[in-house]
Amino acid sequence: MLIRKIELTSYRNYEHTALSFGEKVNVFIGENAQGKTNLLEAIYVIALAKSHRSSKDKELIRFDKDFSRVHVEAENRTGQVELDFIISQKGKRGKINGLEQKRLSDYVGTINVVMFAPEDLELVKGSPQIRRRFIDIELGQISPVYLYELSHYGKIIKQRNVLLKDMQIKRSTDFTMLDILTDQMIERAAFITKKRAEFTTQLEKWAVPIHQSISRGKEALRLEYIPSLEVSDKGNLSKIKVDMQTRYEAKKTEEVRRGTTLFGPHRDDLAFTINDLDVQKYGSQGQQRTTALSLKLAEIDLIHDEVGEFPILLLDDVLSELDDYRQSHLLETIQNRVQTFVTTTSISGLHERVREEACIFTVNQGEVKRME
Ligand code: ATP
Ligand code: MG
Repeated sequence: MLIRKIELTSYRNYEHTALSFGEKVNVFIGENAQGKTNLLEAIYVIALAKSHRSSKDKELIRFDKDFSRVHVEAENRTGQVELDFIISQKGKRGKINGLEQKRLSDYVGTINVVMFAPEDLELVKGSPQIRRRFIDIELGQISPVYLYELSHYGKIIKQRNVLLKDMQIKRSTDFTMLDILTDQMIERAAFITKKRAEFTTQLEKWAVPIHQSISRGKEALRLEYIPSLEVSDKGNLSKIKVDMQTRYEAKKTEEVRRGTTLFGPHRDDLAFTINDLDVQKYGSQGQQRTTALSLKLAEIDLIHDEVGEFPILLLDDVLSELDDYRQSHLLETIQNRVQTFVTTTSISGLHERVREEACIFTVNQGEVKRME
């Protein structure tokens, strides 16, 4: 996959900017707060229809403007493709080759990206919510059905919570409506659980050898998907449903008493171990960093395996933070196969090989210039 050109209109601190990119590594150099991350974010947004930093789409609109637009000319397995993404006060819309997509889940995945940013350390250290978000985003960009089911699940959970709250207040014992919603929820929840389990297995398959190699053979990484609802066989949809039915049936009076949905994919987690020790609890800073890096690099392979081509890699402020060995490893992995966008405040932190081959841009107060 490639992005040849991008055009930003009223996006963050960009008024109007059009740029052409190189096929290999593109480096954005600039001081703090000039718009480097904003540029990578725009590429992320055009691919995934949301920002990696903010859940509030309107923050992307340049101050005092009504709407924001990102346009790219890209190339994927199907050939040339043009994407438009527009955020206005009313919401967001995505177009593929000029055609507006009714559902954003149909828009997402036209181009794939993998972003590695300093906050990705939180993937290992942070709350389960961050890891769920990671799974949802990565899985969502290779599976439109997953995205669709996930958004449905979210809606059902909301309805169900409203109902549970209402039943709690009224001390109701009429479960008719709740049972209907539970059935609908389980349909989605079981699908999501199975997909997440498969994704974790796939990701682990790619991440283990990468991690082993970065740690020079010393560390064995393991990934484990931990559904909040224990299921006997994560790979079997009908068994998952039966297990979920049993569990929700057993707990429904408690759910009414508490006035909320107590279990389900919205409470799942992902665990990482190195040599059988929990990385979140016992891992050193370096091990946590390596784990996050291994996961991101594994995603590149996973996407390649699933969609048949490499995603676009976005590295925000991380290359210069990796030591020489990890940097070489990363370069080894991308080896001219992956179009990469890198931000840095100083060129000196970059590996010589990157400097030689890259297209270099300077970023200064929302103005981007290509260095010859
Ligand atoms: P650093 O090296 O510190 O990470 P950066 O170059 O990555 O810096 P960005 O995060 O890309 O910086 O840009 C930050 C700038 O963009 C800030 O000065 C901020 O005020 C501006 N900015 C953010 N959102 C908007 C917006 N909606 N409209 C206008 N300007 C914005
Ligand atoms: Mg930045």
